[in-house]
Amino acid sequence: MEQLTMLGTGAAMVTNMYNTCFTISREDGELFLVDGGGGNGLLRQLELAHLSPLNIHNVFISHNHSDHLLGIVWLVRAIAQHIRKDRYLGCLHIYAHQKSLDAVKTICGIVMQPRLQAFFGDKIILHPIENGAQTIILDREFTFFDIQSVKELQHGFTCRLLNGKKLSFLGDEPFHECERQYVENSDYLLQEAYCLYSEVELYRPYTKHHGTVVDSCRNADSLNAKATILFHTEGKTPIELRQKRYLQEARAAFSGMVYVPNDLDVISL
Ligand SMILES: [Zn+2]
Repeated sequence: MEQLTMLGTGAAMVTNMYNTCFTISREDGELFLVDGGGGNGLLRQLELAHLSPLNIHNVFISHNHSDHLLGIVWLVRAIAQHIRKDRYLGCLHIYAHQKSLDAVKTICGIVMQPRLQAFFGDKIILHPIENGAQTIILDREFTFFDIQSVKELQHGFTCRLLNGKKLSFLGDEPFHECERQYVENSDYLLQEAYCLYSEVELYRPYTKHHGTVVDSCRNADSLNAKATILFHTEGKTPIELRQKRYLQEARAAFSGMVYVPNDLDVISL
């Protein structure tokens, strides 16, 4: 069965959960990792989810912000160590815009041992993507698109799952109209919802290029999504209340299925 495992569900500055990143699994346990969160916590989240870096050979980085990219540096380090000890079969493929690939390589070039860096280009393969790029990852067709962020170059993707369903990821900004052609009629629309609409004054999401639960649900409705999965939230609402409050607000704005996962929740796709 194909599963989505939310390794983290928080925005950049959260401290009571991990930053937003997730894996999509294939039946044989192989994983596609989307973003890495902000650091070494990625390795902890993988361990807590009983997932192994040895099963990660394909990674996507949406953009260069610290809460998405720096965890990948730790993953590269962990995998390079496994490669050195002959425990990791095959190559690690990293898909991202050239700007993010350069960032990963530069940071690894500063903080990693040269003998581990030596795997770049050999066992660690960087795949630059541009707007509209199509590729096959773990037997699934992917199309990447530039979300046209004014903040920082960022890409999302849409893919056809092995079960035929369409899954689309909008990155960590509210839906931009340019994405419609790629993400309309998704079975699963993965998008950020920084806070409740009722708490806009408290969290001021719009000043940070983020949106609310109501905004994201309206987008899901306008894009004819069957289900939407909301994440990348503020971290001040107590975790034990977040899901209930967010779902309550979501219900009035979208008649489809809404998920507000916690860290380490698994969604069967
Ligand atoms: Zn972010």
